[in-house]
Amino acid sequence: MPFLTQLADVARRTGFPVTEVSGWKTRGHGPQPEVQGIVCHHTAGPAGGGDYPSLAVVRNGRPGLDGPLSQFGLGRSGHIYVIAAGRCWHNAPSTSPQHDNSSSIGIEAENNGSQPWPDAQKDAYIRLCAELCREFGLPAARVKAHREVNTSKPDPHSIDMSDFRAAVAALVKDGAEADLSWTEKIVKNLPMVRLGDDNYDVKTVRGCLFARGHVPPTAYAGSEAGLEGWLKSTQCDTGLVELVRGFQRAEGLDEDGFVGPKTWPSLLRV
Ligand SMILES: [Zn+2]
Repeated sequence: MPFLTQLADVARRTGFPVTEVSGWKTRGHGPQPEVQGIVCHHTAGPAGGGDYPSLAVVRNGRPGLDGPLSQFGLGRSGHIYVIAAGRCWHNAPSTSPQHDNSSSIGIEAENNGSQPWPDAQKDAYIRLCAELCREFGLPAARVKAHREVNTSKPDPHSIDMSDFRAAVAALVKDGAEADLSWTEKIVKNLPMVRLGDDNYDVKTVRGCLFARGHVPPTAYAGSEAGLEGWLKSTQCDTGLVELVRGFQRAEGLDEDGFVGPKTWPSLLRV
């Protein structure tokens, strides 16, 4: 994986203001090898001093640890600072292989380590994690507090990570379904139909195939009773799988004989 130059666009999808800190696209301890997790931090910076007084430290580092320290900074107002697109030194050692520096993205939220979190900042924190999960195809379970993946760390203080992850998961789910039409949502929830299945979805497959002109062998199609029996059957047998393959071939789909997320929409003409 190269430098993560999409991070500013990902941050803007939260709806919160974003500052691209000069030089961020090439800043990092080399490129980011992969993104398997997200680690949430607090800066332990000053109690006052504006929205994001820790910017210089997170960008440049501190004695004994070179910057950048994390890809993102998060101000008290919910303002997001994109600081680096490469690897950052935010979690070493890590007790989780998905959350070490080479495998995860760090977010340093401004907080002195004991002051309350403003609502806007917490909302932005959740939204940024949700957008990152979406961008990198991660479940909300991969969002961790620094203290969960490095037992010597306290941050981010007082945030219940179970609640936090539940809020992230709800946003990821909403986003994934928001772009779908009503019928697409239904199709998305249809189960895979395959050889050996015995249920009413098999019957739906039979009906759809027949309606699309993919007729069963003459043993069934030859008589009305035979055809009726064939259409009513809830068994996914080899004959049906062959018809599915024929349908897939005609539609330019993979001929795997499974009715799944690509074949269902085609069968139902969604
Ligand atoms: Zn930390």
